[in-house]
Amino acid sequence: AHVARLIAAGEVVSRPLDVVRELVDNALDAGATRVDVEVDGGGLRLVRVRDNGAGIPAGSVGLAPLRHATSKLSPQASSVDGVTTLGFRGEALWAAAQAGELHVVSRPAAQVGACEVLAQGEGVQVARASAPAGTTVTVRNLFARLPGRLRTQAPAASEVREVTALLGRYVLHHPGLHWRLTVDGEVRLTHAPSDHRGAVASVYGPLSANRVLAVSGEGVRGVVSRPELTRARRDRMHISVNGRPVLAPPELERAVIEGYGELLPAGVAPLCVLDVTVAPEDHNPNVHPAKQVVALADLPGVAARVRAAVAATLSAHPL
Ligand code: ADP
Ligand code: MG
Repeated sequence: AHVARLIAAGEVVSRPLDVVRELVDNALDAGATRVDVEVDGGGLRLVRVRDNGAGIPAGSVGLAPLRHATSKLSPQASSVDGVTTLGFRGEALWAAAQAGELHVVSRPAAQVGACEVLAQGEGVQVARASAPAGTTVTVRNLFARLPGRLRTQAPAASEVREVTALLGRYVLHHPGLHWRLTVDGEVRLTHAPSDHRGAVASVYGPLSANRVLAVSGEGVRGVVSRPELTRARRDRMHISVNGRPVLAPPELERAVIEGYGELLPAGVAPLCVLDVTVAPEDHNPNVHPAKQVVALADLPGVAARVRAAVAATLSAHPL
């Protein structure tokens, strides 16, 4: 049972990047307007996410690290169709406590004191604490008890690159928040509340920000670059579905490129940040452990909306 538990936890959290994603998703689900991420030692030594969101009430904070403990699905829910939060499985904090040492300090704004939880393996200890409103979750020594996992981890520098890219995607898709990423004590990325163009400035610099056009179509919002700002790779195409940065279905990336028509030379990709909204029941985020892939009930229809929104933007801004 012990081994089975570790294997299951390892499917939720297989590397530091997964911890960062799960903790940031929790901060967003809690309605935070400020998210502060710290990573030390490539995330294996420490991942910390501090937010100013709703907090966890004293009465339930001890439950948060238990498996399947989620406050986001009602017990009557028969499926996750229609889920509007980023989390819904109640496994992330549990997995973090299995794979490392989990420390949570949390206080809802209306509660007088904070609570603190230390969880490691099966053990959960709760104590009183004092803290500002919001939640700070720290995961230390990830995989220290799982030498097999530890051995297969990427070098710290490459994990840090991916964490930085992930934070960039959160900034691009949630530009209205304060964001900060600190790596080994050094601030790597900061962003103050702004719009999509401001987020492009924070992530890619002001020169790129000056070359993007605002997109505002039916259920499609964001920015696309002028046709001259392109790259051979598609690594600057960012698409979210209902607020979740996803590995964009190739159909949607193609729809963006098709929206440029003849303006884009063959074989290149633009910079884009597009937030696509679909009805909750039209998308299923539960097809992938990291929830990075979504199944869309009407992919051709969504692609057509994206293509039209991009085409309308470019035709409104002749070169
Ligand atoms: P899930 O997000 O799928 O519900 P998690 O294991 O990620 O599961 O979190 C368990 C529960 O802990 C959440 O449902 C939520 O009630 C609470 N929680 C975790 N992180 C935060 C946070 N940053 N702010 C407020 N509540 C949180
Ligand atoms: Mg979660």
